[in-house]
Amino acid sequence: MDKQKFSKHVELKKIKITDPFWLGETELVRKEVIPYQYEALHDRIEGADKSYAIENFIKAGRVVSALKNGEEVPVYPADKWCYDDNNAHPDAFHGWVFQDSDVYKWLEAVAFSLSDCPDAELEAKADRVIDLVCGAQLENGYLDTLYVINNRSGIFSNLKDFHELYCFGHLSEAAVAYYKATGKRKLFDAACRFADLICDTFGEDKIKGYGGHEIAEMALVKLFDVTENKKYLDAAEFFINERGKKPYYYDTVLGRETVYDNYHYNQAHCEPRKQHEAVGHAVRGVYLYSGMADVAKRCGDDELYSACKKLVENIIDKKMYITGGIGSTVDGEAFSFDYDLPNDLAYAETCASIGFVFFARRMLEIAPDADIADAAERAIYNTVLSGMAQDGKSFFYVNPLEVLPEASHKDSRKRHVKPVRQKWFGCACCPPNLARLISSIGEYCFTENDEALFVHQFIGCEAKAENADIKISSTYAENGRVTIEIRPEKEITLAVRIPKWCGKYTFSLPCEVKDGYAYFRISDEATLEAEFDMQAKLIKCSNRVRENTGKVAVVRGPFVYCAEEADNGKNLQMLRISKEPDFRCDGDTVIADGFREKEDGALYSEWSEAEETPVQIKLIPYYKWGNRGENEMCVYIRI
Ligand SMILES: [Zn+2]
Repeated sequence: MDKQKFSKHVELKKIKITDPFWLGETELVRKEVIPYQYEALHDRIEGADKSYAIENFIKAGRVVSALKNGEEVPVYPADKWCYDDNNAHPDAFHGWVFQDSDVYKWLEAVAFSLSDCPDAELEAKADRVIDLVCGAQLENGYLDTLYVINNRSGIFSNLKDFHELYCFGHLSEAAVAYYKATGKRKLFDAACRFADLICDTFGEDKIKGYGGHEIAEMALVKLFDVTENKKYLDAAEFFINERGKKPYYYDTVLGRETVYDNYHYNQAHCEPRKQHEAVGHAVRGVYLYSGMADVAKRCGDDELYSACKKLVENIIDKKMYITGGIGSTVDGEAFSFDYDLPNDLAYAETCASIGFVFFARRMLEIAPDADIADAAERAIYNTVLSGMAQDGKSFFYVNPLEVLPEASHKDSRKRHVKPVRQKWFGCACCPPNLARLISSIGEYCFTENDEALFVHQFIGCEAKAENADIKISSTYAENGRVTIEIRPEKEITLAVRIPKWCGKYTFSLPCEVKDGYAYFRISDEATLEAEFDMQAKLIKCSNRVRENTGKVAVVRGPFVYCAEEADNGKNLQMLRISKEPDFRCDGDTVIADGFREKEDGALYSEWSEAEETPVQIKLIPYYKWGNRGENEMCVYIRI
């Protein structure tokens, strides 16, 4: 690591989003998603799966009061992943073991939204939820409603499956965000008390375990950054150091030789420093890698950073869909082997792409890297945005690149692939995760150090960086044009990423281009006009990916395009796009010349040249698919 290259992101509070494209998304989150999710967490959405999330905090609060009063409190089983209506006692915990995290993610999204847009009524709602959360905390700082309600003596007894450290992580992330946004300490203090308990419980000569679902690592670093209390950073480093050590903690704790044979699922198959290939549950993976990058930077740990570099390269070069989706197999919601990127069986969970964006920013804070920033852009503008409907009321968990609704209904191998977004999931990790990323999107634009200010993403905003005020006026999503006005406090370097998708670009000021960034020396107030050519292009996927040989995808600027049945009729597989498609744009729709094969009669017949008729293929941005009811969709088209 070269410490000279270290930078940090500009804090959300110092950024005001003004971008017409992104304001649409952030406003949708503020006006639709956050209020909708508030109702969902309270189980007040008709026809949606019950969340039980708020109900659990209320029940846990009652338990905490009863314990304080020395009353007898019943014990219920804490032995499953999901506790539904039918098998749980009415007073016991309900829902998934990680249900608390949905409340925390909602609170974090609220905090980000309040940073940009103060709202007394929303803040009051959040304060009431925070009261419920803090009311559920045990005297010793422990806070997880499953064990508080069901079984106080089982705490930290199954780190692999029962997401206590995961819920702690989300609690801490929400607490830091809420404290930064409002200055209120109640939730923050609760998170620190839980963190203190964790530091007292885990370590050398203590429990030498680690969470089955990572996030505690990066959350502890966030607490460290705010408090500067080194024990939180040490705890994050401890969790990383213990993971994958032999004998495996998950075996020794159960008092048996290796029985659990799926350590890859939890990225615990070997020590993180030796991990060079992204494996296992994809969300867990990118959350771990984010924590590794955080610790590597703060501890000056070159070996850990080197592993992060190999992991990010493995993802970008061999395991990422063109849409920025990662974790291609439903089997374990996991990374598959290199170049295994099926279109119609894709998993590509929305949360995994969100987690990749977290990881990418942390890597950019260690050293600028245009490939990483490009991949983050691809994830943000495609899979992440696709996760949410245009009205902000329904969500994709899985993000396929090809959908045949009949297959989703009749083929159990594709049951995870939904042809339309769902209202709310009982296992609702993705919607609140989306809300928190979109409402904090400003934090992904810039990183800065003493010498330089980097523009990684082109989102229109006004920001107060440490050494400069910067204003980005952007119609980037529409036409690739960006104006950057900068007022420096001293002479600095402005570094602007040159998106890889653009063949031609112009800058109005002289610059030096190096490794995908254009570097400008700025000594006085300056305005930089940048234009990135948004011409739609045909993109070929490596022929190592078996599914896509002989096919292409259409990309325009940061957006990947797709064909839908609503525009092109059924049987999208019969379409063929012309090699010279003469792209025409109509708003954000792209029209291309192509052909449609005549449907065959017999299942088999002697080969002859297909009969085709010329057609105009209409393509829409991938993130907009599935907003017109159930219909076929595909990203890759034969050429
Ligand atoms: Zn998710």
